[in-house]
Amino acid sequence: MLPPEAGVSVLVVEDDSGIATQLVRALTRGGYSVQHVITGTEALAADDHDVVLLDLGLPDGDGVEVCRRIRARSDTAIIVITAHGEESDRVLALDAGADDYMVKPFGLVELQARIRAVLRRIKPGGGDVLRYGQLVVDTRTHKVSVSGEDVQLTPKEFDILQCLAADPGRVVSRQEILETAWDSHWYGPTKVLDVHVAALRRKIGVPGLIETVYGRGYRLGEA
Ligand code: CA
Repeated sequence: MLPPEAGVSVLVVEDDSGIATQLVRALTRGGYSVQHVITGTEALAADDHDVVLLDLGLPDGDGVEVCRRIRARSDTAIIVITAHGEESDRVLALDAGADDYMVKPFGLVELQARIRAVLRRIKPGGGDVLRYGQLVVDTRTHKVSVSGEDVQLTPKEFDILQCLAADPGRVVSRQEILETAWDSHWYGPTKVLDVHVAALRRKIGVPGLIETVYGRGYRLGEA
């Protein structure tokens, strides 16, 4: 089945090319359709999207004013992104109609959770449950079951499983899982991933469900 993010469009307004590249890549992998612009002027000229990720420090002026103008014309979900210490800007942005804010640096798992949360407020009843055979992954409550039996996972195990279950059959690279489940800037040893995957397999208890694709990564296979 399609992940809940399928068909959701996101506008990324961010002038830092490094951050923008990470965001676009992660969101695209997560099933969102993504447009990236650099300036507030471009953001206001863009088509409507379901979600706007709006950096408040833009090259052509005040992100709070951009937020206010987007809100004046549409019900799109707005999540503002601020640098550490810009608390007054966050308050102004929330007053200007932003739904939520995130402070840099933030993890991509948290970002996707925030996006799902704002979408639930805007589009209640949207799907949050990934199903694959006997496996059910509820991305809202973080409950997992196999053949109707609840499986207790740690947060990391859940994040890894969610990466795989979002697009069953696709090979998800080790780096992609590390970036999603740990942090957007994970440069540490990747052995830690094997340890968590081993525990995850043990708890899921379905031989062959989580396949190792040697030299590439993991995927959900035919159980
Ligand atoms: Ca900026």
